Amino acid sequence: MATMDIRSRYALRPVINVSGTMTSLGASMAVAPAVDAVAEILPQFVEIDDLQRRASAAIAAACGSEAGYVTASCSAAITLTIAATMTGDDLGLIERLPDTRGLKNEVVVQTGHLVNYGAPLDQAIRLSGAKVVPVGAATEAHGYQLAAAINDATAAALFVVSHHTQQYGMVPFEEFVAVAHDKGVPVIVDAASEYDLTSFIRRGADIVLYSAHKFLGGPTAGIVAGRKPLVRAAWLQNGGIGRGFKVGKEGIAGAIAALHAWATRDHAAVRARERGYLDLWLATLNTFNGIRASIDPDPTGNPLDRLKVHVDAGAARITAWDLVDALANPRNGERPVIARDHEVEQHFFFLDPCNLKPGEEAVVMERLVAELTDARHADTPRVTPFATRDARRTASRLRWPD
Ligand SMILES: *Cc1c(COP(=O)(O)O)cnc(C)c1O
Repeated sequence: MATMDIRSRYALRPVINVSGTMTSLGASMAVAPAVDAVAEILPQFVEIDDLQRRASAAIAAACGSEAGYVTASCSAAITLTIAATMTGDDLGLIERLPDTRGLKNEVVVQTGHLVNYGAPLDQAIRLSGAKVVPVGAATEAHGYQLAAAINDATAAALFVVSHHTQQYGMVPFEEFVAVAHDKGVPVIVDAASEYDLTSFIRRGADIVLYSAHKFLGGPTAGIVAGRKPLVRAAWLQNGGIGRGFKVGKEGIAGAIAALHAWATRDHAAVRARERGYLDLWLATLNTFNGIRASIDPDPTGNPLDRLKVHVDAGAARITAWDLVDALANPRNGERPVIARDHEVEQHFFFLDPCNLKPGEEAVVMERLVAELTDARHADTPRVTPFATRDARRTASRLRWPD
């Protein structure tokens, strides 16, 4: 253990993450067995294909699939499994990608599933050389539209499970699988953030994809589980377009360790601890004028609740986004608190309790109280137009590295 926090050595702010498992914040706190596995394997030589064989067994055991392998990320796994549906195990075709002339190269996906998880999902599909065929409208899709979109050139049907997607009006999973399979098309499920490791395979998915660095607390990696010929064809892409998405031995070993740790984690105790944080914040926040806090279950049914904090800018004298920005950019050397703000223009944000170290819940509370008290007593209300905030954030990205 280094005596000084690596964040101070690198002059990084000691952020407190109540945002969730965000790539932009370093994903999650890796669990100790994953950290140990990464440290143990980094100085060793191994036969990577054998390490991936061990990963296949670990993934098969965890997900109830025939086989599996580890990729650089879930986004890479989308590209590589789509590639697999186009090339199969033909090594010549694998080296020819992303040229897909003459191959089945269309991927059907519901329009309401075409999300952006930090990058556009449709781009992860297109990177393989495949063409995206959107099904239905942004807020409504039906099985007959899916059936009509499938033709002789369809390589795969992609189904996304995420809080990012449209949450109603989509083709239900069972119907999606039935329609695709009726036409002989394999179903790939992007379940990057879903705690449920088994049900998609059990309910008919041919391939299901997870992120190792999200709820599992592994190092940055992607997990592919599914039918053996397809998993093999995806793994074989490592000799083609997969090279640029290379996962190292540390990613594979860490993902295996994280899967093992997940199987023995005391999930009830974790949930109870998180509930304690939510109750603490809820009771205090609701004493403030213009703040309405409530406990909000995860939209896709993960066993996880967040605090939803609604801000009435008139009564609180600060908008939801000005409050989020104030928490993230303290003026007096306090710790930055990063809230979950992807819907903040609707005047609410969330506090996600999943990535807190013991004691940080109290700091989050102190910072909220300080900023709300400050807003209450300020001479003028803090009401930045939302468009100004949006433009400022884009401009800031374009200034990097300055
Ligand atoms: C996070 C996420 C991804 C990307 O996962 P990475 O492993 O970070 O590449 C893909 N799809 C969904 C739905 C996600 O939430």
